[in-house]
Amino acid sequence: MNEISLKQATDTLTRADRVFVCTHVEPDGDALGSLLSLGSLLRKMGKQVTLACQDPVPENLRFLPGSGDIRRPDGVDADAFDLACSIDASDLGRIGSAARVFSACPRRLAIDHHASNTRFGLENYVDSTVASSGNLVCRLFGETGVRMDENDALLLYAALSTDTGNFSFGQMDEEFFLQMAGLMHAGLDISPAARQLHLIKSPYHIKLLGRAIASLRFFSGGRLAGMRLTHADFEKTGAKPEHAEGIVNRALNIYGVEMCYLASEEEDGVKFNLRAVPPHDVSRIAVEFGGGGHLLASGFTSRKPLNDAVRALRARMEAELGRE
Ligand code: 5GP
Ligand code: MN
Repeated sequence: MNEISLKQATDTLTRADRVFVCTHVEPDGDALGSLLSLGSLLRKMGKQVTLACQDPVPENLRFLPGSGDIRRPDGVDADAFDLACSIDASDLGRIGSAARVFSACPRRLAIDHHASNTRFGLENYVDSTVASSGNLVCRLFGETGVRMDENDALLLYAALSTDTGNFSFGQMDEEFFLQMAGLMHAGLDISPAARQLHLIKSPYHIKLLGRAIASLRFFSGGRLAGMRLTHADFEKTGAKPEHAEGIVNRALNIYGVEMCYLASEEEDGVKFNLRAVPPHDVSRIAVEFGGGGHLLASGFTSRKPLNDAVRALRARMEAELGRE
């Protein structure tokens, strides 16, 4: 439960020799960009590093340098490390099967930016005022004095731009753009990276998007929008859950909508993506349903059947809007 500073986090990393670094399940650009750039930083500091994630790297992020080195935690020897470091995960459950290795390490450091972070490390470097976990890795590069190369810059750009929706939302302040300037200084070729990360979509995503849009419904006089994707939608399009990424934002970006959700039938339950515009707070709602996240972007998984799960969430969101 120990809350530590940037300097203390740097000291903890400096003292370690063999480091296990992991991130959250269903990794996105911030999870992978932060994981890989932190791994690169540690290697430049002379550490032995193992990078792990429960779920595979989604196709659209396989261009990230080093993504092929990320292992599944399953076969990893839990006694092989003197430090475990989790990045971009708000709680122990979020790192999935990496929790086995993480929990076995004598030193456990959690680095994160989620408002709902539970301080599950023995040491916690958590700052929810930054837009992405990548911003914290930028600070670690600065504090250690390790030189950032082009690959690090690309990884950190993936992190910073993903969690801000390509610089459209989130806590972008002066430090954020100074860090972006640092990435440009390190040789970031931003236009092709932006196309790879934010413009090009897989045909599966577009097909799924069509089905989600067809399911769009409005509630609370147009202030709440909901979409759903069923098992059949995934089967008929051949799409996987990862292809649904970003779809929920389409509902938020409609005139008059203040809050929205996408409910997707997945193998282990119904996955909800929640989004809102200020002054709303969907992280509180997500926590009530067993998940978490940020004020304006959060999620959870329900074990109920699709219709029941959607009904429960919708009632909660309608009540939230009715209250204001
Ligand atoms: P997304 O909707 O893009 O999957 O997730 C938005 C945010 O909510 C992310 O920052 C993610 O960390 C958080 N989030 C999504 N699903 C869950 C969940 O099941 N549990 C927790 N704790 N956080 C979640
Ligand atoms: Mn993040």
